[in-house]
Amino acid sequence: MRKKIVAGNWKMNTTVPEGVELAKAVVAKSNEVPADVKLVIATPFTHLYPVAEVVKGTVVSLSAENCADHEKGAYTGEVAANMLASVGCEYTILGHSERRQYYTETDAKLVEKTKLALANGLKVILCVGENLEEREAGKHFDVCESQIKNVLYNFTAEDMKNIVVAYEPVWAIGTGKTATADQAEEIHAFIRKVIADKFGAQVAEDTTILYGGSCKPSNAKELFAQKDIDGGLIGGAALKAEDFIAIAQSY
Ligand code: PEP
Repeated sequence: MRKKIVAGNWKMNTTVPEGVELAKAVVAKSNEVPADVKLVIATPFTHLYPVAEVVKGTVVSLSAENCADHEKGAYTGEVAANMLASVGCEYTILGHSERRQYYTETDAKLVEKTKLALANGLKVILCVGENLEEREAGKHFDVCESQIKNVLYNFTAEDMKNIVVAYEPVWAIGTGKTATADQAEEIHAFIRKVIADKFGAQVAEDTTILYGGSCKPSNAKELFAQKDIDGGLIGGAALKAEDFIAIAQSY
């Protein structure tokens, strides 16, 4: 049975004290969420150590928002996968569209990052998704397929146990425009098929595929009711503990 996950991506928001307070508020409300829904919070690098102290021993898991594509050494400003593991991260997000767009994150780099994350015991939340131009040109299936193939086809069925896919249509991220439940389900089912083509039906069935893009308490229920949508990657609404928890309660 695949895991249901609601993961918050804080992006570059909150100071460290604000982030610690937000994490405490999420932990305080975590008992209001069904036990089979896993809560994850992804914070900026600066917040990971103090937030790890807050979530330690609770049902909330910690994630980074990115990791380096090298193991260690002269890469000023980068943070390595083993550093993330050493502060208590269980997950890292990789390939978020903001990183693909602003920081030249290529699929080739994502292969390296994913290898290092897995080798250091981290689970990966790999983001894929088309931009508005690609959606309007009807290329959304092709874009997601090539992002999945270019990255995940380099891994094994065993590795897939530690990989979550997040479908995030770029045109829906932070815009208030959510994909309709039908639009999201159509792509989620397609992504599951692309995974099945390489790894077999059972691996595809067991892979958690999250939806991300202006998911909020008012639309989460309809999205999460879809057969192939196993939770959400939440940006803006993850910055308020009540909203984040309300989304997780939508199951
Ligand atoms: C995200 O950044 O992953 C995201 C889905 O953002 P938002 O919920 O704000 O659209």
